[in-house]
Amino acid sequence: MKSSYNIVVCGAGIAGIATAYHLAVRHGVKDIILVDARPPLSLTSDKSTECYRNWWPGPGNAMVGLMNRSIDIMEQLAEESGNIFHLNRRGYLYLTADPEVIPAFERAAQEPAELGAGPLRVYRSQADDPQYIPSPTEGYQDLPTGADLFLDPALIRKYFPYLSENVVAALHARRAGWFSAQQLGMYMLDQARAHGVELVQARVTGVDISQGRVQSIRLSDGSTLSTPCFVNAAGPFIKEVGEVLGVDIPVFTELHLKVAFRDPLGVVPREAPLLIWTDAQTLPWSEDEREFLAEEDDTRWLLEQMPAGAHTRPEGGADSDIMLLLWEYHTQVMKPVVPPPLNEMYPEIALRGMAALLPRFSEYFERMPQPMLDGGYYTKTQENRPLVGPLPVEGAYLIGALSGYGLMSACGAGELLAAHITGSELPPYAPAFALERYQDPEYQRLLEDWPSDGQL
Ligand SMILES: Cc1cc2nc3c(=O)[nH]c(=O)nc-3n(C[C@H](O)[C@H](O)[C@H](O)COP(=O)(O)OP(=O)(O)OC[C@H]3O[C@@H](n4cnc5c(N)ncnc54)[C@H](O)[C@@H]3O)c2cc1C
Repeated sequence: MKSSYNIVVCGAGIAGIATAYHLAVRHGVKDIILVDARPPLSLTSDKSTECYRNWWPGPGNAMVGLMNRSIDIMEQLAEESGNIFHLNRRGYLYLTADPEVIPAFERAAQEPAELGAGPLRVYRSQADDPQYIPSPTEGYQDLPTGADLFLDPALIRKYFPYLSENVVAALHARRAGWFSAQQLGMYMLDQARAHGVELVQARVTGVDISQGRVQSIRLSDGSTLSTPCFVNAAGPFIKEVGEVLGVDIPVFTELHLKVAFRDPLGVVPREAPLLIWTDAQTLPWSEDEREFLAEEDDTRWLLEQMPAGAHTRPEGGADSDIMLLLWEYHTQVMKPVVPPPLNEMYPEIALRGMAALLPRFSEYFERMPQPMLDGGYYTKTQENRPLVGPLPVEGAYLIGALSGYGLMSACGAGELLAAHITGSELPPYAPAFALERYQDPEYQRLLEDWPSDGQL
C-alpha cells in the first residue's frame, strides 16, 4: 500500500468493484485502491437472488435506460469471458389468479414497453397471435426483448403446466434472468486488479476535508491515504460513511431474507423462469393450525391478508434440486446490524405463500426439506431510485441505494460513476440518479405522488 492514490473506493461490494473496474479497465485510470474491512462481495452482494430485468416502470425511462445499459455491459462481459458467470435469459414470469386485475395487469405491462424495454406481445389463442419463443435453459443471445402477455389460461397451462390452474394471466418479461453475482464480481475485480487496482482490508474511519475538498482518508489500521477523490460505495453503510464526510445521505435500510431449500419432488422444473405471484393472499392453514395461531397476539397476523410478491426460482444446474424463495410479507425498516437477524418462521411462511402458485409445494408443509436462511439489507431512497454521482464535497462521490436491484444495475451504475469522476460524457439518465435531484422543486412535487417503486 502506498501513501497516496488518485482514487480511494470505500466498499468492495458489487458497486465499488464495478466502479473500480470501469475506472481502471475502461478509462485507464491509475493508482486506485479499494478499501473494505470484509472480504470482497461478502456483505450484501452474495446474499442476493442474482436476478436481472430491464422491465421497470416509470416515471420516465431512467430505470429502463440504466438497466438496458447495465445488461448490455453484462452481455459484453459474458461474451469476452466465455460466460464465466452463467448469464441466462429465462425471464421473469409475473402471475395472477384474479380476473378483475387483468385490465390493470395489461396497463402495467404496457408501461415498460413504452419506456424502451422492448415490445409487448399479447396472446389470446386467436388466429393473429404472434409466435411465442420460449426461453432456453441456458444462454442469453438472439432472444426476444420486451414481454409476452398470456391472457388465455389454456396457453399458460400449455407452456407452464406446473403452475396453479387458477392462474388467469401471465406476463413473461424477456430481457431478464439470472447469473452468478459472485463470479461476475470476481471477474470484474480480477480485471481491475490486472489493471493495477489495489485491495486493502481495513475500515474507512475518517475523511480529512480542507477548503471543501477531500484531502485524505483515514483507515482503521492507523494509516492515512492522501487522495483528491473518494468514492462512498459502502452499501448499507453509505449513510454512516456520508456522516464522516458531513453529508446527509437520504436513505434507509430494509431487512430482506431469502431461503434456499431442496425440491426433491421436482415441483418446479429446472428450466423454469423466475416465478412471481402478484396477488395478495391469505395463507393455507389447517383448522387446527388456525385455532392455534389465533390464540397468540404475535401469531394472529398470520391469518390475515398477506401482500403480493412471493417469488421463487431454481438454483444451480440440471443436477441440482435447490430452489430460492423470497417473500417480503412483513417489511422491516431497521439500522443495519451484521449479521442481520434471521426469522426462523420465514421459510415456512414463504413456502405456504408460494403454494398459491405452486400447489404441490403443499406436499412439503408437513416436512419442509432443511431450509438454508440468509439475508441482507435493501438500502433505499424514498422513491427507490439509486444515488450515483458527486457529493457536495469536492472530490467525494457516491454509488449506492441500490436497493433490491444492485447486481443487475452495478455494471451500468459503475460506468455512470466512472463517467462523473473522469469528466466523460454522461448518459441521459445521469440526472435521475444524482443526489442533486432532491434540490429540484419539480422533482419534489413528483415525489409527493410517486406511482410505484417497481421493487419485488
Ligand atoms: C435477499 C436479497 C435479495 C436480492 N436480490 C437481488 C436480485 O435478485 N438482483 C439484484 O440485482 N439485486 C438483488 N439484491 C440487492 C443487491 O444484493 C444489492 O443491491 C447489492 O449487493 C448492493 O451492493 P453494494 O456494493 O452497494 O453493497 P454491499 O455488497 O453491501 O457492499 C458494501 C461494502 O462496503 C463495505 N463497507 C461498509 N462500510 C465500510 C467502511 N467504513 N470502510 C470500508 N468498507 C466499508 C462493506 O464491508 C461491504 O463489503 C438483493 C438483496 C438482498 C438482501
